Amino acid sequence: MATDLGQAAKAAGIKYFLISFTDLFGTQRAKLVPAAAIGEMARTGAGFAGFATWLDMTPAHPDLFAVPDPESLIQLPWKPEVGWLAADLWMDGQPVEQAPRNVLKRVMAAAGSRGYELKSGVECEFFLITPDGEAIADPGDRQVKPCYDQSALMRRYDVIAEICDAMLSLGWGAYQADHEDANGQFEMNWHYANALVTADRHSFFKYMVKAIAEKHGLRATFMPKPFTNLTGSGCHAHVSLWSHDTNLFEDATGELGVSDLGYHFIGGIIHSADALAAILNPTVNSYKRINAPRTTSGATWAPNSVTYTGNNRTHMIRIPDAGRFELRLADGAVNPYLLQASLLAAGLDGIAAKRDPGPRLDINMYSDGHTVTDAKKLPLNLLDALRALEESSVLRHGLGQEFVNAYLKLKHEEWNAYARHLTSWERETTLDC
Ligand code: ADP
Ligand code: MG
Ligand code: MG
Ligand code: MG
Ligand code: MG
Repeated sequence: MATDLGQAAKAAGIKYFLISFTDLFGTQRAKLVPAAAIGEMARTGAGFAGFATWLDMTPAHPDLFAVPDPESLIQLPWKPEVGWLAADLWMDGQPVEQAPRNVLKRVMAAAGSRGYELKSGVECEFFLITPDGEAIADPGDRQVKPCYDQSALMRRYDVIAEICDAMLSLGWGAYQADHEDANGQFEMNWHYANALVTADRHSFFKYMVKAIAEKHGLRATFMPKPFTNLTGSGCHAHVSLWSHDTNLFEDATGELGVSDLGYHFIGGIIHSADALAAILNPTVNSYKRINAPRTTSGATWAPNSVTYTGNNRTHMIRIPDAGRFELRLADGAVNPYLLQASLLAAGLDGIAAKRDPGPRLDINMYSDGHTVTDAKKLPLNLLDALRALEESSVLRHGLGQEFVNAYLKLKHEEWNAYARHLTSWERETTLDC
């Protein structure tokens, strides 16, 4: 392997490698390693101080080693002398249990031992904003219903086409880009793949979009709800489960072309939805996207309750087509690895326990949701979601105790930091109490 990377560097003209890993908060950390040193580094891993990242470690912990996965190599299309590598984290000769890529590999191995391979596609919405983060970058992007706005899309052609060209050159199967439902918001789609491949691509996509936007004097953000009146940025995941070349969710005789196994998987997601929110909606801001009041465009396009449906975008789960479903819960802040790992863990539990997803709701959930009395609401804030995760034996078992404990500890600290924050809203509503 080590020599492979050295040879790859020579063959492709790579001068530096970015050995990159994603911590629990989704932040990507890296060391830049000259090609001459990659052989040794690929064997031992690049060293990091774990406490300096979001992994729930102390300054006294020994070195953390990021061992690159040669399969993940991506030559930066906008700077081909650099090769990006996703890395797995090790400490004291053991894989770090709570490291997100390790968590995903563990859950996928558990699925693999039952003969299942998760394949998924993600839709990463993002805003192009001014470098100071204050406003959308294009002052001309003002339509009330801005979705698919041709002119606003084409004013960003240079950025969007550069990103799309990059995905095409990497062989991801990029197939469309559009202006989304908020002013300043875009989405770019590429083809689904094995969940680990999708997670690595998802991580790289976020980095690439930010880097290419910066090159063009802009800033890209995946923040779930950067502007209160506008639709937030989701990260829908499309999901199917395979055995070799057979899509196990496909069944021509099943409701909407989905198999019993597929419905059990959906039943698992529905069963664990409130705990899943702690991972799929991981920030304080996430809860301003789900459960949100109507945006200026007319709809939030985000779910508010734990329900599923057919080809109808007002529910948490949508079945757009035979053989797959779309989970619309996650937002732009989701950790790419934990997204796949958590939905798979919940789905595997659904299969093992043969969970019943209940009846499909063919209603407009935004206008008629009140007519369904037994649909569970999604958590209203991060704290509620963290408490649900705390109590979820399904996710504790599926994702691992070390991971869940580390994640909850850091996220509770984040919640507490937020709760200590004095907002202008509080002053406005309480000064004259
Ligand atoms: P929409 O906006 O209608 O929700 P998009 O076209 O933006 O859908 O994204 C659909 C995603 O679903 C793509 O990544 C696509 O490759 C993926 N997808 C399609 N079929 C499957 C499948 N069987 N399993 C997993 N993902 C799939
Ligand atoms: Mg040092
Ligand atoms: Mg889409
Ligand atoms: Mg979208
Ligand atoms: Mg979608």
